[in-house]
Amino acid sequence: MLNIVLFGPPGAGKGTQAKNIIEKYNLVSLATGDLLRSEMLEKTPLGIEIQASMDRGEYASDSVVIKMIKDKITENKKSASGFVFDGFPRTTKQAESLDDLLVQTGYSIDKMIALDVEKDILVSRIEVRGLESGRPEDQNREIIERRLKIYNNTTASVKEFYQKQNKFYSVNGIGEINEVFDRICKLIES
Ligand code: ADP
Repeated sequence: MLNIVLFGPPGAGKGTQAKNIIEKYNLVSLATGDLLRSEMLEKTPLGIEIQASMDRGEYASDSVVIKMIKDKITENKKSASGFVFDGFPRTTKQAESLDDLLVQTGYSIDKMIALDVEKDILVSRIEVRGLESGRPEDQNREIIERRLKIYNNTTASVKEFYQKQNKFYSVNGIGEINEVFDRICKLIES
């Protein structure tokens, strides 16, 4: 099993690179943003609650996100040759729970790979995505700023969590998609 956590702020390109990684290494992607958005589409009471936090640029609760990941790991663990976690874990609590969940399956995270991108570029990428995807939280400058701030306030602890386990790596996330992907592949294969 190969289990990778793809890390980085909103707009860093995690979703794009997760897609490349799962194709090349035949892994399953677990993107909490996507899982939350599908729950929202169902318009269940939980979906409505999630929509409210997402629109404000705030995180969904740890318990909701952890439950979603747990279900997906259980569903895929027999067939998958590994997972790429995209947008998860975002809090230390989530990181601890992920370790616990993987221990139960006999596996662990191999590497956390962070995509480094400076703030100005993040904001412009998110604004472009907002036009293409229609995601409301990508279309409001104040909300974008809030998300980047929340990320900065919680990142350190999650990064440190993996640094302590000697699993933290980062690549320059600026450049052509394929260039960034090559940097990631070198890390995965090193
Ligand atoms: P982005 O990379 O722009 O943050 P995502 O699709 O990964 O886009 O996430 C969209 C939103 O979903 C986040 O702003 C947050 O509200 C919510 N979300 C995603 N992952 C998590 C998580 N692990 N914990 C809590 N909330 C999350």
